[in-house]
Parts: sequence; C-alpha cells; structure tokens
Amino acid sequence: QISPEILPRIIQAIAEAIEKNAEAVTQLDQAIGDGDHVVNLQRGIHALQAQSAEIGQLDWAVVMQKIGMTLMSTVGGASGSLYGTLFVTIGKALRDKTADLPAFAAAFAQGVESVKLRGKADAGEKTMLDVLIPAAQSLQNSADASISLQELLADVTHAAETGVEATRKMLATKGRASFLGERSLGHIDAGAKTAQLMIAAIAAVIA
Ligand code: ADP
Ligand code: MG
Ligand code: MG
Repeated sequence: QISPEILPRIIQAIAEAIEKNAEAVTQLDQAIGDGDHVVNLQRGIHALQAQSAEIGQLDWAVVMQKIGMTLMSTVGGASGSLYGTLFVTIGKALRDKTADLPAFAAAFAQGVESVKLRGKADAGEKTMLDVLIPAAQSLQNSADASISLQELLADVTHAAETGVEATRKMLATKGRASFLGERSLGHIDAGAKTAQLMIAAIAAVIA
C-alpha cells in the first residue's frame, strides 16, 4: 500500500513533465483544437501544488475528491470537467476501501467510466479516453495477475504510449477537433498526449 504522502512528489513530477512538453503539446492543440490545453492543465497543476502539503495528509478517498474538485474549478475547458469527474469518481470508489492495488485498479476503471459518461465518448474518438481506457484495462489485468509492481507500471506506461500513438490515425468525433472532420487525421490528440505524460510521470515516481 502506498500513502498519500507520495502525492507532492507525483504532482511535482507531473508539473515537470507537462512543462517539458508544453510547446509540443500546445502545437498539438493548435493543430486540431484551440491551443489552450497546456495552459488549462497548468492552472490546475499550480492549484494542486499550492495544496500539496495539506493534500499528502488526507486519506485516499478524501484526497482524490479534493483533487477532482480543484481541477474542476481551475482547469476549465473540456479537460477540466473530465479530469474533475475522473478524480471525484475515484475518490468515491475508494470510500471505506483499503487502498490496495486491486481497489485502485477498480477505482481507476470506475473513474474512466465516469469520463466516458460525462464526455459522451468512448474509445476510438481521438480523445484522452484513448489513453485512459487502455491504461485502466492494463492496470486491472496486471492487478489480477501476480506480477511485480515494476512490471505492472511498465505495462500501464506502455499501454498509454500505444494509446496516444493510435490517436494519430483516428478521426475526431468528440471535442473541438471533431469540427475539423477529416482534417483531424494525422495529428495526435493533445489530451491523449498529456494523459500519457501524466501516467508516465506517476509510474516513474512510484517505481
Ligand atoms: P477545450 O477543447 O475546451 O479547449 P482542452 O484543450 O483543455 O479543452 O482539452 C481538450 C482535450 O479534451 C482534447 O484533446 C480531448 O483529449 C479531450 N476531450 C474533449 N472532448 C472530450 C470528450 N467529449 N470526451 C473525452 N475527452 C474529450
Ligand atoms: Mg483546447
Ligand atoms: Mg479551450
């Protein structure tokens, strides 16, 4: 079991990963969106950094809901309400649960389901869900198999990387990119890319 005391380091790692890729991701959102995705996310990350010390002292259910509420009220854009929903749902799913690996895997899967509902979207529509869905599946498969934590993290990271690359040849049917129709083909989705960057950052801190 992992304590929420790891969260300040995870938030820091995510902040650095997004900062390092800010220009590239902004270009992705400029190509088929409105170019604000990184700025939107960074507003949320800065708000979480400001709460960092306090956040590490809460239990998982409470802290996940708090992160969700913070993201919902600071990120804005399509991604704000979707990430807000993701974390609030994870928090609810962890309520009265021992926060072990199977519980996290199940909670993450429920969170991803809530993003699907909120966004009225599913796999193959060129969104963050094309990373979140395979990552959640991989986490659940690995949580059921008796493999090492390192292997599990490598599997989830790999699933996210495969997912983000797959968005390149997808036609966007949700979000701003869908306004472009066929012109959305050939570009990676910005929200899928940042979801993958965040998953990789989280895995690197836990490993
Ligand atoms: P906005 O599009 O409002 O400017 P952002 O730029 O912050 O918001 O986020 C855009 C990202 O949100 C997209 O790249 C996509 O991954 C994701 N997204 C947009 N609409 C949906 C949806 N309906 N379901 C899931 N993800 C979505
Ligand atoms: Mg945008
Ligand atoms: Mg916008």
